[in-house]
Amino acid sequence: MRRTRHINIPIFIPHMGCPHACVFCNQKKISGTLSFQSPMRVKKILEESFSTTGENDDVEIAFFGGSFTGIPEHEMITYLELAQPYLKAGKASGIRLSTRPDTITPHILKILKSYGVTAIELGVQSLDPEVLLQSQRGHSVEDVISACSLIHQSGIKLGIQTMLGLPDDTYEKALKTAKDVIKLKPHMIRIYPALVLKSTLLEEYYLTGQYTPLSLEEAIEWCTGILPLYREAKIKVLRMGLQDSDTLESSVVAGPYHPAFGELVESRILYKRITKWLDMHLNNQKRIIIRTRPRLLSKLVGQKRTNIKGIKEKYQLHDVVVKTDLEDGEFVIEVE
Ligand code: SF4
Repeated sequence: MRRTRHINIPIFIPHMGCPHACVFCNQKKISGTLSFQSPMRVKKILEESFSTTGENDDVEIAFFGGSFTGIPEHEMITYLELAQPYLKAGKASGIRLSTRPDTITPHILKILKSYGVTAIELGVQSLDPEVLLQSQRGHSVEDVISACSLIHQSGIKLGIQTMLGLPDDTYEKALKTAKDVIKLKPHMIRIYPALVLKSTLLEEYYLTGQYTPLSLEEAIEWCTGILPLYREAKIKVLRMGLQDSDTLESSVVAGPYHPAFGELVESRILYKRITKWLDMHLNNQKRIIIRTRPRLLSKLVGQKRTNIKGIKEKYQLHDVVVKTDLEDGEFVIEVE
């Protein structure tokens, strides 16, 4: 059957299965879901969601938000069973879930595999031991390495979530984490700049001056250095920055929050590539034409035309014309 759209049906299970309190975590706020997800409720979410999907849609059922594999086994199976009718009927192509590295065992993976789980996203956050410790993650780098290896052996796809700017993090550590994550060969990655959310330990640290989050500018710069590493390694970046929601926005106390964070990073990367080209090729000309693909226009121009204004100012140009007649590649520059 030919699939057209990819849809995740997200079922948020805040803090379920998780005995920890990582300094940055307030899962209830992130997911916008405040109550316990009873099996009845999950059943209802699935029924309602599948009533709106088409037969050509590629639909995955996604248990996000907690530590799915930390839930008592019988409860985990109850949730997985609710998804089975949709898998068997061919309405869902798989199940994905998020969890902690230290709750992955061969036994758990065998269960997940038998219930049609297709992707596991591990909350890794950092591969620096001190950052993990200061963030009170409660697991080690070795736990991550072992979980990744077991997931690969199981044939289930591996996703890794990382955070930037946690306590004790530096750009060098974040860059090293990215390089070490690449060695773990994940199929996909999510990158989240750490935010200070209400009712978290990080909020306490922030309010007492023990923690300073990254500024938006720093977070963009860090990601600008890190994102190309994943792209070069052909690892799919599913998301940069937390999914925007009213609940999240009202929970952010401080930190590099922006509803279009990923777009800001992509835009900065293009700015750097363009200025690198201009540094090498511009010779006192005062007018340039940048040709790009229509899809890249907003990223290339930047929010509020920041890229174009920056280029104009940096090179004292009279005119920067942007055309969208390119069919392939990122951009071509003509100087006049
Ligand atoms: S392991 Fe995950 S769910 Fe548990 S406290 Fe940490 S971030 Fe939150």
